[in-house]
Amino acid sequence: MEITDPQFVEAMMAEDSVVWALKNKIKLMGGTTFTLDGCAYIADIMRDRARNIVVMKGAQARITTVFMLRAIHALRYRKYPQGSIYYFPKKEAVENFSKTRFGPLIADNPCIRRHLKNTNSVNIKRVGDAFLRLLGASSTTDIQGKKDSTAVRSEPSDEAVMDEYDLFNEAIADMIPDRLLNSTLKLMVWLGTPTIPDYGIHKKFVDSDQKFRMIKCHACNEYTCITDEFPNSISYQKKNTHESYKPYFCCIKCKKEIYVADGEFVAKYPSRYNPKYPTEGISGYHVSHLITSNCELSLVMSRHEEAILDGSKMGTFYNSMLGFPYIPIEDRLRPQDVFNCCGDEQMQTSSTVGTAMAADIMKTNRVVIARKMKNGAKIIYMARVSGFDALYDLVERFNVRSACVCLRPYEESFRKFQARCGNRKDQYGNPNKVTVYGVEYRDKQRNLLKTDDESGIYVLHRTEAMDGSQVWIRSGKLEIPRRCEEVNVFAKECCNTAKTLETNEKTGDKTFRYREVGTGGDHYRHCVNYLELALKNLREYDIGLKGQLVTADNESSYDPLTWDL
Ligand SMILES: [Zn+2]
Repeated sequence: MEITDPQFVEAMMAEDSVVWALKNKIKLMGGTTFTLDGCAYIADIMRDRARNIVVMKGAQARITTVFMLRAIHALRYRKYPQGSIYYFPKKEAVENFSKTRFGPLIADNPCIRRHLKNTNSVNIKRVGDAFLRLLGASSTTDIQGKKDSTAVRSEPSDEAVMDEYDLFNEAIADMIPDRLLNSTLKLMVWLGTPTIPDYGIHKKFVDSDQKFRMIKCHACNEYTCITDEFPNSISYQKKNTHESYKPYFCCIKCKKEIYVADGEFVAKYPSRYNPKYPTEGISGYHVSHLITSNCELSLVMSRHEEAILDGSKMGTFYNSMLGFPYIPIEDRLRPQDVFNCCGDEQMQTSSTVGTAMAADIMKTNRVVIARKMKNGAKIIYMARVSGFDALYDLVERFNVRSACVCLRPYEESFRKFQARCGNRKDQYGNPNKVTVYGVEYRDKQRNLLKTDDESGIYVLHRTEAMDGSQVWIRSGKLEIPRRCEEVNVFAKECCNTAKTLETNEKTGDKTFRYREVGTGGDHYRHCVNYLELALKNLREYDIGLKGQLVTADNESSYDPLTWDL
């Protein structure tokens, strides 16, 4: 039955953006009209009243359209008195969107055009008394190492939508919520296709209630998530002998055909968001390309086959087809790689044999102490401690003979520590110095290591050092204590960095760079990077062997995998 009472229809349209878009037959790109046919998931997302919404999506999910229409509707019915801001990662993306999507959306739909007041800018539209702004969230200036964007700082807003979140500058993205401080609504929306795990949109999604589309099977009533179960959620059939086999979505239990139209969102972690309390928690949606109305399954399957044959295409397949993050095994350590290094022994409390120390310096330092072994090295102690005095106590307790420590951010304190170690005397008053180097990273440097003996500084090529520690951990030549709470932290921090290919915006140059992923930092990983150098400076008589000084200044000799004592 169609409801025709005009007052009631108008009330429904004011209340519900989905009804408004359907009733007005909103025209979209490519001559299509807004519809829920074959994409009912759109209505669920568009109607969500959560203060914080994250959508992790594959290609062609039409989510940008959903939030654009939702914002226009809210402004039209004066639900956002302070307006809405739609952020793209870059100014160029704004211009492109404005030209190809936003402009036509206004031009083709009188129900929208009627409510817009003219402004000088194509990217800022006035609806009633409030503004809808399309902005690029790229940084404009860099003030004392802190990124600053005028686009992010200016006027307040009730809603901030961030589209293609993985391409955002993180420092800029962190400033966006400040725009909502004066708002009673404070609506935040993160959208994007994932790239690597624990980064950007995936990191946000992980914190949400994680709603996946579950499809009910009419034959056995079981539910299947076609993305989670891919490729087991695909079967092949042919209608007659002349036809070729065609793929279809199948029930994971009984293998009968299932239909995307029977899907519903089900949260993996319902306790993290309760619709009764929309201002708390994050409401999260996963929208793969598979559940969109544009999905051509045979095309998806041929791309999957291509990706299996050519591994370099697998990342794109995961990201844009499945809507999942992906990283090749060689570009990020797994916790299991680290736990494989665990020996049987617990941490030690002291050492009579000479040892090497490495420390990452910040508010709570990470420190590891290791012994050189016949075939590699063995970490005998790891801890989180504060201040350089605590480090010096460990130098005494563990008979540390060589240390590599972050030169920054506390260079002055480091220099005092370095001098104290350099002037150290034994119990008879004879000089008994500990060799200490300050370490700093460079992104661009021809060699892995540059040594400045005079000022006691090592300059390490960051990417190569990270590559090196990853190989070392996987090599089986580094032993760590048996599993305990601190070893768990160590493993997590060793894995909280991933190698990605980055493109320089200005020059177009591509370089590999490790970026921090996950939560809690990658501090212990840097300790492992430094430890390789510190061990190299252990003299053979320090560790109970005769022989001459071996130093790290010979670059070709810096490779813990080739040590053979
Ligand atoms: Zn079934």
